[in-house]
Parts: sequence; structure tokens; C-alpha cells
Amino acid sequence: MIEIGNSRPTQIEKALELAARFGWTVPADAALEDLFGRFRDLIDETDAAMKDSGAAAACAACASATGSCCFPEMEQGYGALSLYVNLLMGSDISAAAYFPGGCRFAGEHGCRLKARHSFCLNYFCPGLKESIGRAGLEEILRSIGRQLLAGWELERALARWTADWRK
Ligand code: SF4
Ligand code: SF4
Repeated sequence: MIEIGNSRPTQIEKALELAARFGWTVPADAALEDLFGRFRDLIDETDAAMKDSGAAAACAACASATGSCCFPEMEQGYGALSLYVNLLMGSDISAAAYFPGGCRFAGEHGCRLKARHSFCLNYFCPGLKESIGRAGLEEILRSIGRQLLAGWELERALARWTADWRK
């Protein structure tokens, strides 16, 4: 277990410990592989809905102009398991913050996390809501709901898989 002085390990450090203990690729377990596959597909579905509606482009433009609405405290919203899921999906969780005063996971080209928190997925500022329109927003929200449910099921299964190590 990583210890830095007397301080407790961060969730990022714990996620890296999980990877060191259980591996950097999806565990060779049929049920987990299925859950990962389904989760990936649903994330892709949400990303496609965000792209088609114009939301992805609007947020990217906003991010390059203002650093986006991604505030630094959001890092605390991610537990070790969800960061481990992100690692297994190829997300760079340990890169330094790109925007001073912004969320640690906000990179030059948008969020560095593949599996994002429900708050991150469900937040649409008033201007964005207006530009997407009601129908587009409802379609995205339905997709987000399916994604979040699949992510929750995956984390639950992964929690059982890693239970012998975690406290
Ligand atoms: S939700 Fe609104 S404020 Fe946040 S990044 Fe997108 S456009 Fe910008
Ligand atoms: S995790 Fe990603 S989407 Fe959420 S606040 Fe941070 S950069 Fe923004």
C-alpha cells in the first residue's frame, strides 16, 4: 500500500494499487468481460448522442475558451473502484491538471475519463440546454441512464472480485 508520510493514500493512488494487485487489463472472467463490454458500448452510445446533438462540440469550444465548468472538487467524487474501471478502459488518471483551478481530469481535449461520474454526465448548463433543445436532451439523458446502470453493475461485480484486498 502506498503511504506518503502520514497522509492517507488518495483515491488515484488506491486505484493504481488495485491495478498493481489485480492487473492493468480487464480480468479474465467471463462475467466481468461481458459487463465491461456492455458498459463500453453504452458509453459509446452516450458519446454518440452528445456528438450528434452538438453538445460535445459546444463543451469542447467552451473548455478551450474558459476551461469549462469542470471544477477541482469533482476529483473527490471518484472512488478507487471507479478510477480503476477508468484505468482498465485506458483512461489516464494520473496526469497533472491541465487547467489551473479546474478539475484534475480535464485535459486539453476534454475529460480524460472514459467512465464519468453521474454528476459530470448529467450537468448541462442553461446555454447548453437551450442549444441542444428538449428532444435532444431527453435522448442524451436516456442514454446516460442506461450507461450509469451498466457502470453500477460493473462496479458491484468488480467490488466482489477485489473484496479480498480492499478494506
Ligand atoms: S456544460 Fe456549459 S459551461 Fe459546462 S463545458 Fe459545457 S458549455 Fe461549458
Ligand atoms: S471528471 Fe471530467 S467531466 Fe467531470 S468535472 Fe472532471 S473533467 Fe469535467
